[in-house]
Amino acid sequence: MPEVTAQSAPNSPDADRQRPDTVRVENLHKSFGDLEVLKGVSLTAREGDVVAIIGGSGSGKSTMLRCINFLETPTSGKIVIDGEEVALRPDGAPASRKQIERIRRELGMVFQSFNLWSHMTVLENVIEVPVHVLGVPRDEAIARAEKLLARVGLAEKTDVYPAFMSGGQQQRAAIARALAIEPRAMLFDEPTSALDPELVGEVLNVIRDLAGEGRTMILVTHEMKFAREVSDHVIYLHNGRIEEEGPPETLFGAPKSERLRQFLKTVA
Ligand code: ADP
Ligand code: MG
Repeated sequence: MPEVTAQSAPNSPDADRQRPDTVRVENLHKSFGDLEVLKGVSLTAREGDVVAIIGGSGSGKSTMLRCINFLETPTSGKIVIDGEEVALRPDGAPASRKQIERIRRELGMVFQSFNLWSHMTVLENVIEVPVHVLGVPRDEAIARAEKLLARVGLAEKTDVYPAFMSGGQQQRAAIARALAIEPRAMLFDEPTSALDPELVGEVLNVIRDLAGEGRTMILVTHEMKFAREVSDHVIYLHNGRIEEEGPPETLFGAPKSERLRQFLKTVA
């Protein structure tokens, strides 16, 4: 007979209630001048959740992601990272530079265009922030970076400059670099959109592994099959609003919104 313990099984409603919110966004608005790009969007990623954001070009996906780590300044709304609410001034700007720097260290960002530092080798890219911002001893940072690079299949590329690598290799290096700060959550903004089709799989494999080990992730993607496979929750953004959201089976399998149905046809 199975032993009854106080510990609830993973994925049971009880365990679910106990998982803390790692990223919480409430009623986020963002305008660029007169253009209102986000019109009140909310999102919660609990520890271990993979939240996928899908939507057409210009719907506000990148802006939403960039507001979460304050690469863009929200116009209004509430952002809570790992239980810490970011204090915003009435105009939405963060009140404390220090707090933003601390929050950014909790979030590993991966961009569509890799954004590796071109004058540094792969290893230097990965240790840069740990050594120069976080104060990790160089030897320790190198040892950790080598492990991370091995994990993303780049053990042989540590001393190579980005220009001499394929897009897939560069993006995997960028993922290792984001992981090197030991973030609480990873933010991916269309990590495979700039890649030749034959290189998409190797990057998705790395992201899939991260999802499998229970990392908290927010993933903007056009790879619908992949989103369906790895995510726990999907948000469909249209014109700065959440048009529909839910578990992947529902969102992809039985979409309610006509607009989402049309969208899924165009990206299929
Ligand atoms: P998506 O990632 O879904 O394609 P974005 O978030 O990049 O959409 O953009 C949403 C809208 O905001 C677009 O109309 C885009 O032109 C506009 N936008 C994004 N960034 C800026 C900016 N820095 N200044 C002005 N408009 C911007
Ligand atoms: Mg975008």
